[in-house]
Amino acid sequence: MRFQALQTAQSRKILKVKTDVSDIPALFGSNVFGHDAMKEYLSKEAFKAVNEAVKAGTTVQRDIAQKVADGMKRWALEKGATSFSHWFQPLTGLTAEKHDSFYEVWDGKAIEKFSAGSLVQQEPDASSLPSGGLRNTFEARGYTAWDPSSPAFIIEKTSGKTLCIPTIFVSYHGEALDYKAPLLKTMALLNKAATQVCNYFDKNVKHVGASLGIEQEYFLVDKALHDARPDLIMTGRTVFGHAPAKGQQMEDHYFGAIPARVFNFMYDLELESMKLGIPLRTRHNEVAPGQYECAPMFEEINLAVDHNQLLMDLMEEIGRKHGFKSLVHEKPFAGINGSGKHNNWSLITDTGVNLLSPGTNPNSNLQFLTFFITTIKAFHDCAPILRASIASASNDHRLGANEAPPAIMSVFIGSTLTKVVSDFESNKKTAPKASDNKVINVHNLPDIMVDNTDRNRTSPFAFTGNKFEFRAVGSSENCGRPMIALNAAVANQLIKFKKEVDALVAKKTKLEDAIHQVLKGYLKESKKVLFEGNGYSDEWAEEAKKRGLENIKNSVDSLDSYLSKMADEIFVKNGIFTKSELHARYEIKLEDFVKKIQIEGRIMDELVHTHILPSAILYQKRLADTIQSITLAGVAKADSKGLVDLLKEVSKHTNELKIAVDMMVEQRKQANVITDTKKKALAYCNIVRASFDVIRNHADKLEHLIDDDLWKLPKYRELLFVR
Ligand code: ADP
Ligand code: MG
Repeated sequence: MRFQALQTAQSRKILKVKTDVSDIPALFGSNVFGHDAMKEYLSKEAFKAVNEAVKAGTTVQRDIAQKVADGMKRWALEKGATSFSHWFQPLTGLTAEKHDSFYEVWDGKAIEKFSAGSLVQQEPDASSLPSGGLRNTFEARGYTAWDPSSPAFIIEKTSGKTLCIPTIFVSYHGEALDYKAPLLKTMALLNKAATQVCNYFDKNVKHVGASLGIEQEYFLVDKALHDARPDLIMTGRTVFGHAPAKGQQMEDHYFGAIPARVFNFMYDLELESMKLGIPLRTRHNEVAPGQYECAPMFEEINLAVDHNQLLMDLMEEIGRKHGFKSLVHEKPFAGINGSGKHNNWSLITDTGVNLLSPGTNPNSNLQFLTFFITTIKAFHDCAPILRASIASASNDHRLGANEAPPAIMSVFIGSTLTKVVSDFESNKKTAPKASDNKVINVHNLPDIMVDNTDRNRTSPFAFTGNKFEFRAVGSSENCGRPMIALNAAVANQLIKFKKEVDALVAKKTKLEDAIHQVLKGYLKESKKVLFEGNGYSDEWAEEAKKRGLENIKNSVDSLDSYLSKMADEIFVKNGIFTKSELHARYEIKLEDFVKKIQIEGRIMDELVHTHILPSAILYQKRLADTIQSITLAGVAKADSKGLVDLLKEVSKHTNELKIAVDMMVEQRKQANVITDTKKKALAYCNIVRASFDVIRNHADKLEHLIDDDLWKLPKYRELLFVR
């Protein structure tokens, strides 16, 4: 299969993408029932009502919904859609859809029908989606409900188009079973809290929204080679694979010239994204061979999350067209970089002000300092929740693995703002110096403006000019999860901030002084979370320990914070999650962890027995036969020593591989009978997963020793470099 796959990969034709670039403006959003389409297909009244509902975050009345449904249907039918689907984001982290036809058979004839009811609400029998115990089997019903703030869109497959309506997904009792419902709640909370604080500075502000720009890293491997790797098919990562002679050490891939086939995939992805209104802007090679990145222009947070989920689906679909498999797993390959998904986040007012933009003189920009320092304080206080919000079996490979931010939740703000903050704390009124707007002069070229923050790749939460960048998020994550945590943490802090400031003002402190006083207190309390140095270094781990910052390396332990007092404070008290919803999420994540490691363990077992041992045994026999026949032919013992040593080495690894894998299977069986979910997850984490390294080590050694002709699994050099 490996050689067949190689042949397929090598003889693959490059697929050209046809477009007329003059079409691009018309292409953008052409499959979205957005502003323009709504204006055309809805009555004035319905159009206004939807826009107002979106602005106010309220629901759309039934009679209006019927009008929207009619307009939406007309638009979708004209576009050639034959069915519709509520599109939602269950706690699997993936997207879900259940299609219904627009046509009903009536009197032997097919007639079109799409009622307000079908638009507003559906009841998918979704009892097989994770609920963490929120749905008993006798109340297995789940409801999806229309989210008018994210426009409906059409998904095109080679044969057939479907109208997709973004929805939330809740249980019979109204508990959230998805990421969207709580995300929308945090947005409302954050809007209210931030607007009130904003009004200290500007009474005209009526709305504050969080914006999000998501950088998506991914790998592309040839589809045929991928399909010859059962581990990639089953888990999205290679559980075996000897390091290739050349990995990423030459540093020649990052920002390198994009190979033609990859370029065509990217181009196609951009065009298809455009149709869906996803504003993809950036494309480049990433650090590891076979690794790439794309990023859209930032958008309102709910839309950005929806678009990222759609983008991941598109990458899969379009990859297939170009003979690729796109991998969004956090660590598809050992020994080279894994993939993340930087979440660039900021707060923007309806008057068009980015509240995290320092402006030309941050020292005297009290509004900026308020939001900047409050966010730092929120991150400091809620670090364990934020850590938990990015926890997964797959992200464990990155965090703390010296290639991605460590599991220590610290904040990087850059040298300029460090100075600003320390001046603020010590009441120094420093005017900006020339060096604050540094310029680099290069002979004969225009001046290069230097940003007010340098880059720090090692920080999990970095301030990058006018936004915070949550860099620790894993590449396969639904960004709703970390954004729920970040929004809620910051909103909660802003609520507290307002209370404290108001209390001081009530005691006759001047508003500006009150703000100063509270912010200074925050800085004092949360300064220890600020770190500018190398997050990968051992010294930092030690220093962080001294500062009292936690370093929770495995996901299982980090999830405890879902059940903590802090979770109560930021989620339960603010009406984002009930206690039982939090508990459900905790259970689901633990179960997800167990299942992922279980699947990895099973595929390892299978590959060892069906792929690796048979090759090793054949090679041993070949060696043994050779040694025997050359000895018979008179070759002296001393002259066949090398061969004998090789045989011994192959035999040793073969034997130990078999023993190690059997032991892991036994450990898995023992873990499986544990009934307590947390204990089971810990057993999977600390015992089962911990034994993977030994198994892998023997398998990889064998790959390195055995005749290439006998090796069945495509090798790293093939997966990473053949395209
Ligand atoms: P880099 O790799 O330099 O961090 P990229 O251009 O790849 O930058 O991605 C930066 C992302 O941050 C983009 O999605 C961009 O739209 C987004 N972004 C820029 N400004 C803001 C902002 N104010 N709020 C949220 N996201 C932003
Ligand atoms: Mg970035």
